[in-house]
Amino acid sequence: MHANMTARDFKKAAVIGYPVAQSLSPLLHDHWMREAGINGQYEALEVAPDALAAFVKNAAREGYVGFNVTVPHKTAILPMLDTVAPLARQMGAVNTVKISDDGKLTGFNTDGIGFLKHLKASAPGVDLTKPALILGAGGAARAATAALLTENIPLLMIANRTRAKAEAIVRDIGRGRMTALDWDDRSDAVSAAGLIINTTVLGMTGQNPLELELSSAGKGTVVYDIVYKPLETELLKSAKAHGLTVVDGLGMLVHQGAAAFKIWFGKDAAYDAALKKKLLEALGC
Ligand code: NAP
Repeated sequence: MHANMTARDFKKAAVIGYPVAQSLSPLLHDHWMREAGINGQYEALEVAPDALAAFVKNAAREGYVGFNVTVPHKTAILPMLDTVAPLARQMGAVNTVKISDDGKLTGFNTDGIGFLKHLKASAPGVDLTKPALILGAGGAARAATAALLTENIPLLMIANRTRAKAEAIVRDIGRGRMTALDWDDRSDAVSAAGLIINTTVLGMTGQNPLELELSSAGKGTVVYDIVYKPLETELLKSAKAHGLTVVDGLGMLVHQGAAAFKIWFGKDAAYDAALKKKLLEALGC
């Protein structure tokens, strides 16, 4: 940094998590900062749970314009912020914090925005007036649910190994348009769904595949797997074999990052071929 530059001329952003080394966010934001000619840097900071409050308290003084928040801090950070945007409050999770010039911290959640944007970009024919089936009830399911319910989806069916967690989502954010199913009944719901989403860890490298019988799926059904390592999961392979439209998880990651970039810098960030190539290399694909 030049001596006559103020801390906020040099744009510092970061992702905080524990662990954080696996995060692809630095790759995304370094790419976009360079493309937009922004003078700054994006850091990956390992912040242990007992160090979170101190990090949040000092972040403005340290010159950050904002930061991303990942596991395990997405919920714990809420009471430490000055303001939380309505969607993030509804999800009970923050993944992006903006620090204003007067040092105030506002929390947002861009995971749901990224989820929906990638869906519409990759499967423009998706029928969001039909019921949807969501598998899993963790943090990613909450984000996807809140985003989907901003659309005209008439019914969102949710199945999770631990049924009580699916019921909690129905209660917390279901808006009267959600119902919980038993995990073992998930394949029975396939025929009614225009959109099927995997938000569990099943299918990730090192995990068992997600077992779902797709033979009753209607023509035009979209299968969206938010797992991105591997990019083509067994679920997506099976969906393709059944002639269904597939959406992989990488674009959700990119679009949630792009929404955070816009919040901090007011600039659009593109998901172009050069960025995709870098991400695939980083993932070893
Ligand atoms: P999480 O809060 O820990 O939730 C994990 C979910 O997986 C829960 O529903 C859990 O069910 C289920 N699960 C775990 N092991 C299972 C098993 N053996 N059988 C059936 N279900 C099982 O995690 P998360 O943050 O929601 O993330 C979930 C997945 O989404 C991860 O693969 C993550 O990489 C991916 N993700 C992708 C993006 C993206 O941008 N593409 C963003 C966020 C997350 P129980 O409740 O029964 O434990």
